[in-house]
Amino acid sequence: MAKILPIVLHPHPSLSTKAAPVETVDDSIRALLDDMVLTAHGANGVGLAANQVDVLKRLIVLDFEVLRDVMSRHEESIEGIPGGILKLVNPEIAVLDETPYLHKGEGCLSIPDVYTEVERPDRIRLTYTDENGKPREYTLHGLAAAAVQHEMDHLNGILFLDRVGKVKRGMLDKKYAKAADYFRNYPRYLILTDDKGVLEQDLSGWKDMDE
Ligand SMILES: [Zn+2]
Repeated sequence: MAKILPIVLHPHPSLSTKAAPVETVDDSIRALLDDMVLTAHGANGVGLAANQVDVLKRLIVLDFEVLRDVMSRHEESIEGIPGGILKLVNPEIAVLDETPYLHKGEGCLSIPDVYTEVERPDRIRLTYTDENGKPREYTLHGLAAAAVQHEMDHLNGILFLDRVGKVKRGMLDKKYAKAADYFRNYPRYLILTDDKGVLEQDLSGWKDMDE
């Protein structure tokens, strides 16, 4: 049975550390990927990298059903975009088109309640090994490409906050300091903090929020 794992919050050393390649896709990796899917969904997230559950392995899960939905709603083409939930082992990306795509509301489960615009290359080729050890490849664009690049950054110890300009970064850091204080008092999902350890979900402080 898959289980929900605690998500680390920024700043946590795992978020700024490069993850190591997976050597063999075995049952323990498959179980971890299933746990990551449950964890992402439980936190209302679209994707999760293993660094975010304090595991320094090159693993990503991404719900492409949700990505396709959002893309359709924003009148982005979904041609060539796969469906379902993708479990990526040792993913690699190559930029095919540097034209910037503006991801208008980029956010992260490890940086709760902070959203901002991030520019990322519009078209990428994604290659990876799937949960059965098979090589796979997709050409992605727009939001799907941005989402993959966000998760790939995690595997390399980079956050979306590192992708914005200095002035904006200063503003977002301040905003996050406040948001994080509140979030740590009332976590909306299971979290792992570097000072207090695992903190259980506590929704009692979110009564007025649209959840
Ligand atoms: Zn993230």
